[in-house]
Amino acid sequence: MRVAIHSVDGRNYPNLALMRISAWHKARGDEVEWFSPLMPYDRVYASKVFTFTPDDPYLPPDAIRGGTGYDPASRLPPEIDAMPPDYTVYPQFSAAYGFLTRGCPNRCPWCVVPAKEGGIRLVADIERICRTNTGFRRDAILMDNNFLAAPLDFIREQSDKMRRLKIRVDFNQATDARLYNEQTAPIMAGIKWLKYIRISCDTDAMLPHCVRAMRLLRSFGYRKDFFVYVLARDGGMESALHRIYGLTSADPRAVPFVMPYRSLTDNPAEPSAGLRRLARWCNRAWIRNSCRFEDYRG
Ligand code: SF4
Repeated sequence: MRVAIHSVDGRNYPNLALMRISAWHKARGDEVEWFSPLMPYDRVYASKVFTFTPDDPYLPPDAIRGGTGYDPASRLPPEIDAMPPDYTVYPQFSAAYGFLTRGCPNRCPWCVVPAKEGGIRLVADIERICRTNTGFRRDAILMDNNFLAAPLDFIREQSDKMRRLKIRVDFNQATDARLYNEQTAPIMAGIKWLKYIRISCDTDAMLPHCVRAMRLLRSFGYRKDFFVYVLARDGGMESALHRIYGLTSADPRAVPFVMPYRSLTDNPAEPSAGLRRLARWCNRAWIRNSCRFEDYRG
């Protein structure tokens, strides 16, 4: 059988679902390749993460479409979801990708995770994620939505393994600032981080939690930057600025990153020009460090 996989959002980031689909078909002796509109296929799988990415008009009508961008409730069949990802489809990426946990116990109204994933559950082990079909990888991008909501024993066991196996990690969906405490902070401060610890400061109420978490991690010896997601909504410019200035004055190595809010479930308009301008100023550190937003003319 000749099978095509297609990442409708683009190939700038590995799509784990497509990697598992590829592994599942190859295990059955099928040929798998990236979709080309000019080629004939027995089956085409298309995956889309964002609702605002337009569908590909060249996809055949019987293509199997999945992913949050098509349907937040879509899921891989369990036998495919259980497959280890096929890394040969993304030779340009050298890290391992995966989830140690899925889900989140919180119910933030803007977030698709609670409805899509449910509460927190343990799904994998760091050693299993790093042992890929192209060899053992010592950099791991972990896409957990709320790793610190897992039981403390699991957090400790996984971080011990990361240290023992010399694995550097990045929790790229951020960690929950509210869950740093005297138990979790020393564990997380002792991990080898690929670049930095990421936290989220999505509302004004999160600012004191983020400031406290950064101070606590510093007290346990963490020396690198803090990458902080700052969700910004239309009409919420003042709030976002308040958080940006609050973070950078609390820790000079805080790196705020503005994310203009776009719903994953509706099809909203582009973020406003004001929000895009705020993101342009904030997300380029050399601009943010050279002037306050109030003086930014760009
Ligand atoms: S804590 Fe994060 S993952 Fe959990 S519901 Fe809120 S935004 Fe979503």
